[in-house]
Amino acid sequence: MKAARAKTPRRPALKKPPAPGPKDPVGVYCRVRPLSRQDQECCIEVINETTVQIHPPDGYRVFRNGEYRETQYSFKEVFGTLVVQKDVFDVVAKPLVEDLIRGKNGLLFTYGVTGSGKTHTMTGSPGDGGLLPRCLDMIFNSIGPFQAKRFVFKLDDKNGVDVQCEVDALLERQKRDAMPVPKTPSGNRRQIDPEFADMINVQDHCKVDEVDEDNVYSVFVSYIEIYNNYIYDLLEEAPFEQIKPKPPQSKILREDQNHNMYVTGCTEVEVKSTEEAFEVFWKGQKKRRIANTQLNRESSRSHSVFIIKLAQAPLDADGDNVLQEKEQITLSQLSLVDLAGSERTNRTKAEGNRLREAGNINQSLMTLRTCIEVLRENQMYGTNKMVPYRDSKLTHLFKNYFDGEGKVRMIVCVNPKAEDYEESLQVMRFAEMTQEVEVARPVDRPLCGLTPGRRFRNQAFREELARKLEMRGGPINGETEEQSASEIFLQNFPPLPSCELLDANDDQTLPKLIEILEKRHKLRQMLSDEFAKNVLAFKTTLQEFDSSVTSKENYIQGKLSEKEKTIAGQKMELERLEKKIKTLEYKIEILEKTATIYEEDKRNLQQELESKSQKLQRQASDKRRLEARLQGMVAETTMKWEKECERRVAAKQLEMQNKLWVKDEKLKQLKAIVTEPKNEKPERPSRERDREKPVQRSVSPSPVPPSSNLITQVPSSQRLVSNPQVHRRSNSCSSISVASCVMEWEQKTPSHKHTGGTSNARSRQQEPEQSRDYNASDRRRGMCWTGVIEVPRRRDELEIEEDQCCRNAPPVRLRHRRSRSAGERWVDHKPPSNLPTDTVMQPHVPHAITVAAASEKALAKCDKYMLTHQELASDGEIETKLIKGDVFKTRGGGQAVQFTEIETLKQESPTGRKRRSSPSNADPLEDAADSEWTDVETRCSVAVEMRAGSALGPGYQHHAQPKRRKP
Ligand code: ADP
Ligand code: MG
Repeated sequence: MKAARAKTPRRPALKKPPAPGPKDPVGVYCRVRPLSRQDQECCIEVINETTVQIHPPDGYRVFRNGEYRETQYSFKEVFGTLVVQKDVFDVVAKPLVEDLIRGKNGLLFTYGVTGSGKTHTMTGSPGDGGLLPRCLDMIFNSIGPFQAKRFVFKLDDKNGVDVQCEVDALLERQKRDAMPVPKTPSGNRRQIDPEFADMINVQDHCKVDEVDEDNVYSVFVSYIEIYNNYIYDLLEEAPFEQIKPKPPQSKILREDQNHNMYVTGCTEVEVKSTEEAFEVFWKGQKKRRIANTQLNRESSRSHSVFIIKLAQAPLDADGDNVLQEKEQITLSQLSLVDLAGSERTNRTKAEGNRLREAGNINQSLMTLRTCIEVLRENQMYGTNKMVPYRDSKLTHLFKNYFDGEGKVRMIVCVNPKAEDYEESLQVMRFAEMTQEVEVARPVDRPLCGLTPGRRFRNQAFREELARKLEMRGGPINGETEEQSASEIFLQNFPPLPSCELLDANDDQTLPKLIEILEKRHKLRQMLSDEFAKNVLAFKTTLQEFDSSVTSKENYIQGKLSEKEKTIAGQKMELERLEKKIKTLEYKIEILEKTATIYEEDKRNLQQELESKSQKLQRQASDKRRLEARLQGMVAETTMKWEKECERRVAAKQLEMQNKLWVKDEKLKQLKAIVTEPKNEKPERPSRERDREKPVQRSVSPSPVPPSSNLITQVPSSQRLVSNPQVHRRSNSCSSISVASCVMEWEQKTPSHKHTGGTSNARSRQQEPEQSRDYNASDRRRGMCWTGVIEVPRRRDELEIEEDQCCRNAPPVRLRHRRSRSAGERWVDHKPPSNLPTDTVMQPHVPHAITVAAASEKALAKCDKYMLTHQELASDGEIETKLIKGDVFKTRGGGQAVQFTEIETLKQESPTGRKRRSSPSNADPLEDAADSEWTDVETRCSVAVEMRAGSALGPGYQHHAQPKRRKP
């Protein structure tokens, strides 16, 4: 028979796309070994099935501040000191073996510091087999009856596998056996090495439940060591040289067409039993030890990798021979890695060459760490950083497990002793991080499409046939099945008649026999035709059924993978969206904070604006008030000057009239002298007489004494120049300062009798006397002030008048006060220059006659007078004063007002700003002179007297209170 060569394999896709299917995290387990001595200090405690707690040993300061802190680490499962190898195997390695048999790859490594139990866990100790022998045992327990004959599967040097028929395999076997040195151990038949016999003596009979019975299997093992970033084949048969042993040759890594990494030229031994496999391993282990001793290496610094490859291929449709199709072969592998001690270099006190080696070993572990970190980062944050697998042989070799698909598990071994505390912490951290890395779950291999169970059905059929034949005492062994089947059929045919020829001329028996035989032949023909037909029909039905099942399975598979893809995609989308949501939430938070800050700013600015606008409004209203006041002042000044001019004109007129009259008189006297000089004695100068009785002496209007004359008459001692009291009067009435008069009166006489007077002059003289009726306290209260509102005059005149007034205080008759119950009538004098007050209290007198200027007519009708006066107070605010007085009739028939009270309305600014009451550029002297008659004090201390029938309107007289004048 010719070996059926497998078809040329299809070229795989150039680059393996990243597995989109479901992913599983790297399973990380923790194993705590028991302390070697009971008295040792323990710093690791197993809290529960998944958590360990690590605490610093006594006297150890973890943190600079001396804080004592315990740290907990969680794993998929934690194995305490009492957990036996079998339990560890059941949890960690069993699923990996199950996967291996189902054609999926697996990687299991032990990580930890030297002496933490990595080798104990992986290989085991004498009498206590580890994961490796247990894995082998389970594999062979599972595939034992279905193993292919040796050399049916052939591994090529490109990490591939080939299949050949049994005959070719047999030939090859014979060829190898003929060779002087047998390349492979002879298997079960050999005696087991007592060195490790107790390590593989596993009595568990553990096996995979569902092994595909229609497949044939073959196991290949290889054992390599990575030391100082070099790969050495531990199974290589090197010619042994006693004198100068050659250093082992390092191997290189290559990538196969499926992008899987493999060690080129690595010995892969086909093994048929646990013992055989473990023997191979042991051989490698021995070699490793020898090399370490010969080359002075430290075994704890090398990584050992034991690779179990399982090749499987389906049986053909008959269930007899392996299907000769390369595509149908599945090659899966389980790598068992015992990593080098993870401790830092200084701990082992390595020196020189050893230090460099140690550094390299550490380097490869560091690279493993980095790879895991980058993988984790890429997976967690969706980044696409390059994973530096190529930086070390160790990571490069296992790149496919992380890149492609497979199941990765790690056992972290820790020694709870205090000396290992710091290193154990590092180990725990690495382990925790590793748990976050996810590896694509391996997919199930496709079905071969042949009828399942064919191996056993074929067997059962054969057994059944043999049994039946035996029952019938049928053909002896070696007869074909077809023959025995026809025998069974023959039994169903009509029996043959007796074929014995009794007579030579018997012409009945033979023809009868012929006839029957022909009948039988026909029947047989019919039956065989029908059988063929049935077989054909059955075959087609079976095929149809088979194909429909296959197509349905394929369809379901496709659908499933599609669904899985969609689910994975949706999951990814969900994760992406969640990330986006998180970022957006963060953004929103920031924006909200910014908005709050801006709003606060806005509020502050608005407040500022409001306060500024209020200030502006205040300033504007101040300005308006000032303007109005200035306007009022201007108007008043204008009025004052107009009146002054009028008064002067009138005075001049009077003066001229006087002069005229004097001249007339002189002329008359002269005339009299001239006409009758001898009859009469010369008289006093007419001037003096005139003065004494001007009214009686002449019919012509009585001259008003000119100011200059007055001055001459006033004794200097009586002048009140030193006292700045100002007495003013109009041409029609006299005015004096109440205060000055009062002072004068007080000085002169303690009491006065009231004397009435008819003329203006007389009433003027009597004024002070009336004032004296009021006692001092009354005066102080301002109740007896008398004053006349008047038009101001020039200063020199005022002073002159003052003097005169002081000497001739105006006579005022006693007031006839009316009863209040009789009903008072008021004159409300509001000068037009007044501004409306902003005060809440507004002056209002019911039934009052409101006048803009003092009117004699109005006064005649009323008995009360009220003057509203406004001025700027010292603080710059407008002060409104209501000056109230009683009106009473004078003897001369006029009205006099006696001021009694002052009511002040004033608004004060809370800011208390002081304002100038007069323009700063004003001449202080002029200002003083002007302010004299505008000054409220002056105007308030006033008594009014009005002559009846005065052509010039009411006479005004201001009696100023003592006022200090600026120098
Ligand atoms: P490593 O390979 O990590 O350097 P080993 O596996 O060689 O450490 O273990 C060192 C010693 O500790 C060995 O003698 C081994 O028998 C013992 N040991 C390790 N783990 C255990 C365990 N779980 N139970 C009992 N003994 C153990
Ligand atoms: Mg070890």
